[in-house]
Amino acid sequence: MPSLDLVLDNARLPDGTVQAIGISGSRIVMLAEGSAEVSVGRERHDLGGALVLPGFVDGHNHLDTTFFGDVWRPHQRCTAGFNVGERLAIQKDWLARGASLAIRAGALVERAVSRGTTHMRTHVEIDTDFGLTHLEGILALREKYRDVVSIQIVGLARGLLVRPGTRELLDEALAQGADVVGGLDSASFEGDIEAHLALVFALAERHGKGIDLHLHDGGQLGLHTLDRMAARTRAASLEGRVVASHAYALGEVPRDAMMRTAENLAAANVAIMTNAPGDHPFPPVLALRDAGVTVFAGNDDIRDSWWPYGDGDMLERAMMIGYRSGFNTDDELACAFDMITQAPANVLGIPDYGLTIGSLADLVVVDADHAQMAVVARPVRRGVYKSGRLVARGGVFLDHAANL
Ligand SMILES: [Zn+2]
Repeated sequence: MPSLDLVLDNARLPDGTVQAIGISGSRIVMLAEGSAEVSVGRERHDLGGALVLPGFVDGHNHLDTTFFGDVWRPHQRCTAGFNVGERLAIQKDWLARGASLAIRAGALVERAVSRGTTHMRTHVEIDTDFGLTHLEGILALREKYRDVVSIQIVGLARGLLVRPGTRELLDEALAQGADVVGGLDSASFEGDIEAHLALVFALAERHGKGIDLHLHDGGQLGLHTLDRMAARTRAASLEGRVVASHAYALGEVPRDAMMRTAENLAAANVAIMTNAPGDHPFPPVLALRDAGVTVFAGNDDIRDSWWPYGDGDMLERAMMIGYRSGFNTDDELACAFDMITQAPANVLGIPDYGLTIGSLADLVVVDADHAQMAVVARPVRRGVYKSGRLVARGGVFLDHAANL
């Protein structure tokens, strides 16, 4: 047994057992029933039966375009129904008048960590109007907060086919540190499903990266795009590394049509991200998971020009998904919890995730009997540990935690 830096006695794990969790450096090195007879070098706390959960994973957010930490900005509607192009114009107007990316994104990172998020995937604007300034800002932010949260970056290219220079910009972004190839609606925004997907998959292959595309296109158009994504994923041997975010179409079409596409997604191991947005149809979580499709959660927009809601709390997101999905049984609530923990950890490829010996000690302590109750009650996060270090306490981010 290596020397222990930290022991959390009487910690209730999601499996119902009460254990002493021993941590050495950044990892869990001991799990022992009750409280263990071990000497501790640094720190020891008796949790008194409080629940310890693995750190939460926000599988999809937009740090660079949040206005969290800025002044409140009343929502602006599109002039004639929802329109992605007009929403992007509103976003650019807000960004031109808003606080700096470092202030806005930093405030959101700190709030998310205080709510138990220890990993996130963020989609960063790759847009010829911004050049690579957003990517550079998020890369600097990732470095600043590297000891409190792991940040995976998707290069969200807006206009690979329709805006000259975007393709080259995404190519450069992937070379400079973006981890995943991103984009937007192959049909309605880019105007050519096959040409857009061909370009996206070629960039992924050239840079050895995965893919995560926003897909709002609904109905048969959306299903067809998903089918083509699945086919290209198999052809490129990218199984397990491709995501369709939102995929509203899966919630809009008859069940048998949805199931045919679900089979294609499962065969290609293409995952689906949902945030159960507002009053919009969204993918049927249980039916997809029963068909073998990985479905995971993300917050998506948080207090930005798209909508005013959210503060980065993944337990709240799990509750919303469960509520809108009609989840009531313990098995269903466990599914909602899985969507903010193990499922996105698998999709993001987070190594050594979980509450087992050898795992990174990314932990959230709450007063609840089990994970299902945590989803329903969203209790205060008593403590959040990142790699064995306390980074938030009582729902408050600890300033010393980041590389400030
Ligand atoms: Zn998004």
